[in-house]
Amino acid sequence: MKRSGCLFILSGPSGSGKTTLRQEILKRFPNMVYSVSYTTRKPREKEQSGRDYCFITEVAFKTGIESGEWIEWAQVYGNYYGTSAVFLDRELSRGRDVLLDIDIQGTRQILRKFKECIPIFIMPPSLDVLRERLEKRGSEIGASLERRLDDARTEITQIQMYRHVVINDRLEEAVSELTDLIQGYRTRCKNLCL
Ligand code: ADP
Ligand code: 5GP
Repeated sequence: MKRSGCLFILSGPSGSGKTTLRQEILKRFPNMVYSVSYTTRKPREKEQSGRDYCFITEVAFKTGIESGEWIEWAQVYGNYYGTSAVFLDRELSRGRDVLLDIDIQGTRQILRKFKECIPIFIMPPSLDVLRERLEKRGSEIGASLERRLDDARTEITQIQMYRHVVINDRLEEAVSELTDLIQGYRTRCKNLCL
C-alpha cells in the first residue's frame, strides 16, 4: 500500500525561528517538500518569489479565495497569506512529506481538514530573547515590532492546540530535537503502510 505523506506544520510567534529551522530541516530531509505560501506582503531583502513566498497582488489573492485556491488562508499583520490546495493534495497523495510554515489561524484550519497532521509550536526561550532576535533581524521596527511581541503573548496562550513544542534556544539543539521528532513520525508512517 502506498502511504500518503506526513503533513508537518511549523507555527509560532514571528521571530521564533520558523524560517531558520525550516531551512535546516529541509537540508536534512531532501525528500520532504516545503509548501511555498502565497502572500500579498512585499518581499524583504534577499527574499525570492517562488522560493520564500509567491508574492502576488491583493486582487489575485482575493480571486484565489473565491475560486477555492487556498486550502487555508489568513490575514496576518495586514497582509494575506495562503497555502495552495492543489500543491498540498498533489504532494501528499504522491506520498511526499510536506512542511508548512503558517500562523495559528491557518493551523486551526488545517487541523480541521487533516486530522492526522503534526502541528509543532516553535517557542522562543523568552519574550526578551524574541525582542532581541526581531531587532537583530531588522525587518520590523517601532510599532510593527511591538505588535509582533504583543501577538506573541497571545499566541503562546494557544499552545495546547499543538502536538509538540520545540523551544528554540540554542539553534543546534532545536534543530536536533526537531529532526528526531520528524524522523520518528516518518519511520512510524513507513512501518505502518509498507
Ligand atoms: P520566523 O521565521 O519565525 O519569523 P526567523 O527564522 O526569521 O523567525 O528568526 C528570527 C531571527 O532570529 C533571525 O535573524 C534568525 O537568524 C535568528 N535566530 C533564529 N533562531 C535562532 C537561535 N536559536 N539563536 C539565535 N538566533 C536565532
Ligand atoms: P512573515 O511575513 O514574517 O514571513 O510571516 C508572518 C506570519 O505569516 C508567520 O506567522 C507565518 O508563519 C505566517 N504565514 C506564512 N505563510 C502562511 C500561510 O500560507 N498561511 C498562513 N495562515 N500563515 C502564513
